[in-house]
Amino acid sequence: MAILVTGGAGYIGSHTVVEFLAKGEEVIVLDNLQKGHREAVKSGMFYEGDIRDDQLLTKVFSEHNVEAVIHFAADSLVGESVENPLKYYDNNVITAQNLLAGMVKHGVKNIVFSSTAATYGEPESIPIRETDRKEPTNPYGETKLAIEKMLKWCDHAYGLKHVALRYFNAAGAHIDGQIGEDHQPESHLIPIILQVALGQREQLAVFGDDYPTVDGTCVRDYIHVTDLANAHWLALQKLRSTGESAVYNLGNGEGFSVKQVVEKAREVTGHPIPVKIAPRRAGDPAVLIASSERAQRELGWKPQYNGLGQIIQTAWNWHSNHPKGYAK
Ligand code: UDP
Repeated sequence: MAILVTGGAGYIGSHTVVEFLAKGEEVIVLDNLQKGHREAVKSGMFYEGDIRDDQLLTKVFSEHNVEAVIHFAADSLVGESVENPLKYYDNNVITAQNLLAGMVKHGVKNIVFSSTAATYGEPESIPIRETDRKEPTNPYGETKLAIEKMLKWCDHAYGLKHVALRYFNAAGAHIDGQIGEDHQPESHLIPIILQVALGQREQLAVFGDDYPTVDGTCVRDYIHVTDLANAHWLALQKLRSTGESAVYNLGNGEGFSVKQVVEKAREVTGHPIPVKIAPRRAGDPAVLIASSERAQRELGWKPQYNGLGQIIQTAWNWHSNHPKGYAK
């Protein structure tokens, strides 16, 4: 039976495809290549197209015996979502609805869903637990929470089982150096810092230094993309063995401020990485750190890359060997 990976040519999706293939799974990738890169999918079946396209969904579900869907395809930028919320409702919520309708129609019963720490908004306590209050401070988090709720009701009504994985800050690149992070334009902290180290940008703009944190800059929990990828496979095993829906946080449980990330990147790259302080970015909570105790206990998940230096090192290997990303 096959596993359909939507958004499998994207950053986390492509790393997950590699993990699934390594476990011997049959993988089908569906990606419209708006953000993803065809070169990021080295093997497995590939369909270029959109999950809004009912004909294409029917073709994929009819031609393959799909056991489960791993659903990545989405927009995921906090700042952009605040400026253009309807784009996020369209590209995240409407597409998920269409995908779920296709799954129900074709009798596909399992989905692993890419959710986010942004569903919590300003945390009520640190580390954040799955049961904590969820009041997103941006439309990105709001749309992911809406999809989680849609999944809950689809379980209730159609017996469609889900595992929602709330990622904290995905970072790093595959250890073999063949795939990594390539967003156009780039907006994420670690790749931007590494672009400064490569001389592609003059400096890093630090978005706010007046947050109530150790040094005034935002604190995030950085988790290696391969550890995230592995959690998807474990989530699928859970669906296979228990047939029960669940939600898990995925992070290392340790927070680093923007300034601490810059300092670590200076050590890894040997570059001074100049910074300037810029205004806060809309929608950014001050601190996001996960409790992943539930994922560790119930999925047996154990992050292998638990040092920030190690995470940045794998990203640096990718960026320094692919200074233009996947572009030739
Ligand atoms: N950040 C920053 N400058 C940048 C990009 C990001 O100061 O050019 C900060 C951002 O405000 C946040 C943290 O770095 O506090 C991580 O941002 P990123 O966009 O990588 O991930 P997010 O937390 O939005 O998922």
